[in-house]
Amino acid sequence: MTNSVPDNIISWLPQHTNSNPMPTKNTADQASVRELNLSLVLRVIYNEAPISRAQLAARTGLNKSTVSSLVEELMNYRLIHETGINSVGTGRPATLLEINPLVGCIVGVELGVDFVAVVLTDFIGKILWRQMAAADPTDDQETTLARTLSLVSGAITACREKGLNLLGLGVAAPGTVDVEEGILIFAPNLQWRNVPLRAIFSQYTGLKVFVENDANSAAVAEHLFGAVRECKNFIFVFAGVGIGGGLFLNGQLYRGHNGYAGEIGHSPIMAEPFQSSCHCGNRGCWETYANQHSIFQRVRERLEAKRSSIIPKLLEEQNVSLSIAIIKQAADKEDSEARASFAEAGTAMGQGITSLINIFNPEKVILGGPLSIAGDYLLPAIKDTVSQHSLPETVQHADVLLSMFGSDASLIGAIAIVVDDILSNPTQVERR
Ligand SMILES: [Zn+2]
Repeated sequence: MTNSVPDNIISWLPQHTNSNPMPTKNTADQASVRELNLSLVLRVIYNEAPISRAQLAARTGLNKSTVSSLVEELMNYRLIHETGINSVGTGRPATLLEINPLVGCIVGVELGVDFVAVVLTDFIGKILWRQMAAADPTDDQETTLARTLSLVSGAITACREKGLNLLGLGVAAPGTVDVEEGILIFAPNLQWRNVPLRAIFSQYTGLKVFVENDANSAAVAEHLFGAVRECKNFIFVFAGVGIGGGLFLNGQLYRGHNGYAGEIGHSPIMAEPFQSSCHCGNRGCWETYANQHSIFQRVRERLEAKRSSIIPKLLEEQNVSLSIAIIKQAADKEDSEARASFAEAGTAMGQGITSLINIFNPEKVILGGPLSIAGDYLLPAIKDTVSQHSLPETVQHADVLLSMFGSDASLIGAIAIVVDDILSNPTQVERR
């Protein structure tokens, strides 16, 4: 919580607000101004703690007595606490404030395509408990959801055993999501349609539930906890069974007209009738050239052509089936077929990322999700392709890097969407 993110605090507020709201005579307005100011102060503490009241006043533009009163209220909600004295410098020693990590726990759920994962964290995203289970995309929806809910039970028990409160539950899902209603509209790789995830999870847990697309939630996590806290324009590329994008533009998640923006993997880059078909029903989708399955396919073709590789030996020794982890192990041992398979997928990924860079001119593109464990082998090919094909003006400033959360990016994202809501509406937390 020590890195600073000052400039985008304001931009995180809803667009109809401004950074330094003027009080009005209307009581309802006054209450909402108060909530906005609480949110503003809480976000600065979240991003810059430890911080003094005087520093808060300077950062927010609010006067010192207003800041003191807001700080007292946030302490009543147990969202923050005092953490010691700063006696550095010549001024009067000041009491410093920081976030109270134990104000409560958050449950994060990632519905992957071939796994489900559940994590319990404190309010600053520190992992307290986690579990995952394999899932088969061909399993029926009830089976997968029942498995997920039983993991959620485990997380809730772990929280109760620690004597902590629960603040909410976030779900990251691999498809288009109606965020307002909490409904998964369509997950192509699961063939799930119109699943009322909020209703299901809130009925089971009694918690406030948020549902978000996996790549979008990962983008929120990167902005809240990760490597791009000060970055206003970045694109999160979530690569695994599918490829999704979280577009973070002008300091906000960009949702598009209906809320379904960022389905970057289904843009047709090779829309010939003979090209491989995608689970979404189209042909030639970018993700079919760059996703996990495309890498397996490349490896299998090489093995069928009797190319020399240690992959069959690794599979036999470990008695497992082909996975990204195994191909990476081979690549680590300088297996040229493994490395070439990653490089080809990286080139395909670079082509899609080039389009994104040319369209959006982001400062950074972050690669995360299950494929990012092979990031060291994908990234050089991605960067080569991007530098060859992006327009010079856009690529000059666009850096492609790996998510600091790796394959956990969306799982941590499920936590981040809950934290972000509390930072926006602090008074939803129980007062002491
Ligand atoms: Zn598709």
